[in-house]
Amino acid sequence: MFQSRVSLAARAAQRSIAPQSRGLATASPVSSAARNHKIVVVGGGSAGISISHQLLHSGKFAQDDIAVIDPAQWHHYQPGWTLVGGGLKNKEDLRQPMNSLVDPKFKFYNQSVGSFAPADNAITLENGDKLSYEQLVVVPGISINYGEIKGLPEALADRNSTVSSIYSYDTCDKVFRTVETLQEGKAIFTQPAGVIKCAGAPQKAMWLALDHWKRAGLYNPAKPAESPIKISYATGLPVMFGVPKYNAILEQMRKDRGVEGLFQHDLVAVDGKSAVFATPNGEVVKPFDLLHVSPKMGAHAFVKNSPLANEMGMVDVHENTTQHKKFANVWSVGDASSLPTSKTAAAVTSEAPVLVRNLLQSMEGKELDASYDGYTSCPLLTEYGKVLLAEFKYGGEPKETFGNWFGIDQGKPRRAFYHLKKDFFPWVYQNYMVKGHWGGPNGWK
Ligand SMILES: Cc1cc2nc3c(=O)[nH]c(=O)nc-3n(C[C@H](O)[C@H](O)[C@H](O)COP(=O)(O)OP(=O)(O)OC[C@H]3O[C@@H](n4cnc5c(N)ncnc54)[C@H](O)[C@@H]3O)c2cc1C
Repeated sequence: MFQSRVSLAARAAQRSIAPQSRGLATASPVSSAARNHKIVVVGGGSAGISISHQLLHSGKFAQDDIAVIDPAQWHHYQPGWTLVGGGLKNKEDLRQPMNSLVDPKFKFYNQSVGSFAPADNAITLENGDKLSYEQLVVVPGISINYGEIKGLPEALADRNSTVSSIYSYDTCDKVFRTVETLQEGKAIFTQPAGVIKCAGAPQKAMWLALDHWKRAGLYNPAKPAESPIKISYATGLPVMFGVPKYNAILEQMRKDRGVEGLFQHDLVAVDGKSAVFATPNGEVVKPFDLLHVSPKMGAHAFVKNSPLANEMGMVDVHENTTQHKKFANVWSVGDASSLPTSKTAAAVTSEAPVLVRNLLQSMEGKELDASYDGYTSCPLLTEYGKVLLAEFKYGGEPKETFGNWFGIDQGKPRRAFYHLKKDFFPWVYQNYMVKGHWGGPNGWK
């Protein structure tokens, strides 16, 4: 069993990262109403729910030693929202009640965290209650900032508009409705400049829509100019995808399928049936009949404004150990973290075991011996029945599971990968990952 209160190991680790470290010996006591937990996990999303259960499986924690804090009523399998956008799944099937997932051995606070006081080993909930901890895991994801695109919140909320997004539970089913309804005109799919979750998702929505229109006889990739529907991909980035190997394939696909590429076009406003983009040459306005938007995203304010954040607002952790750079008893992975990799649930499958191992080592005063290599994955739906399974690590270097096992090139879209994306991943996530039993390419735990 671990020592109660801040362990000697944590103190030693604190000293080892001076000069930025805080003096734990002088940590001010939290209020008498405060509740103490050995580990507090902020966020019960993909990362929080996996990590808290993996910690529990270590057998080292008793009732209420671990607290999980999350204000949500539902836990969503967000990667499935792309499938909803393609008419392949019902969104209701991709969510589970949060309190059904949280093991009874945890203390579950169904509330928001309002602020962090890492120098005091304490956090404050939005209702004002304080909790103190020995170890803190900060995994509240990122915020989707619809309002940063003028007119977008109103357009999304308007049931009669043709503006939609796979990026939220509320709007992901509007996507297929608008795609099915469009018979002719201009369809624009956007991706913002800046950080987003699953950077491949914006174009997945487009490839599925293109295939739908092709099958309906409304789009001919060989003769786009003569087709009733015209398709543009407007991205704030200079390329289709950030990893050179997959970018080359997707750029060729874009050209072969007659999709207009509007690069360095960052959507800033939706005005009726016009989309306004910021470009290096000033604002450009494009009329549309269907607009699929990937909104802007960024760090939550309560993280950004805390001592835990880096200049981007992300929780500032070491890229291999997942330990905070200043506060040795603070840890982070997933979307909220500064880990310089693509933000995906697949990344979490590799990050979580590293965080758990290193946190447990740290509590026992041992060396941090687990290392995260930046593994992440993006199953790119390129049409109904085909997926290009991008898997890579830090530096955009491919790390292909099936390439290593069977010598398969995962840059080629395949039907087997489609069934992984559509059937296997949702199943294994909802049955095993949420219980801490799924390690991605490393299999069941
Ligand atoms: C449309 C879409 C498609 C995607 N496609 C894929 C894909 O194909 N493959 C893939 O691997 N990944 C994909 N992802 C990304 C994946 O879902 C995320 O990377 C993953 O969920 C990150 O996990 P997380 O735990 O860091 O954040 P989340 O899962 O977002 O969880 C964050 C949790 O923190 C909670 N929280 C927020 N604020 C507070 C607060 N103040 N206090 C306490 N708790 C708080 C939230 O309620 C939430 O439960 C996709 C995401 C989207 C939206």
